[in-house]
Amino acid sequence: MAGLGVGVLALQGDFEAHAKTLRQLGAEPSEVRTPADMEGLDALVIPGGESTTICKLIDSAGLEPALRSHHQAGRPILGTCAGLIVCDAEHLGFIDATAKRNAFGRQLQSFEADLEVEGIGDEALRAVFIRAPWVESWGSEVEVLASHEDHPVAIRQGSVLACAFHPELTDDPRFHAIFMAMTTAARERAGEEAAR
Ligand code: GLN
Repeated sequence: MAGLGVGVLALQGDFEAHAKTLRQLGAEPSEVRTPADMEGLDALVIPGGESTTICKLIDSAGLEPALRSHHQAGRPILGTCAGLIVCDAEHLGFIDATAKRNAFGRQLQSFEADLEVEGIGDEALRAVFIRAPWVESWGSEVEVLASHEDHPVAIRQGSVLACAFHPELTDDPRFHAIFMAMTTAARERAGEEAAR
């Protein structure tokens, strides 16, 4: 299979670190700023930053229809930190969950924690949280992959994976590897449908 094309929304926030991790896993990352940049992508990352700003920039770039058709086609999306908020039921609605912004308290602007994450093996994942949300409510279709202090911080629903931390800021690529496995599977499915 040729390299998987993974777009990283590059309107604001830490898109470069995601591209580096994706490259390490054999993907071909590209920066997304316009609807044309979404063409032919196998998957998309919505990185951290500031969710209100990212939503405004999606709007002014006219990107919402392209994001919706990407999602409807079953192509995977990874939302991290502010990206989780952008995907939630109160924003783009790609995942049946609501996020609580800056949920871990003002004094805890940033912290690290070891997480047990479903599907990455027994070794804990060191996770960096920066003014992070947590998942406040979620529907029955949503799988909780990891929690911190009893609040979900990594979830998945169908083709959408989201986390409250910054998996791109550590050297451990295992969280992105879950996303790449979803992307490989989605591309295989799309190939089989096209051959039918
Ligand atoms: N606090 C930010 C927000 O509410 C998210 C922070 C982040 O992405 N690191 O949008």
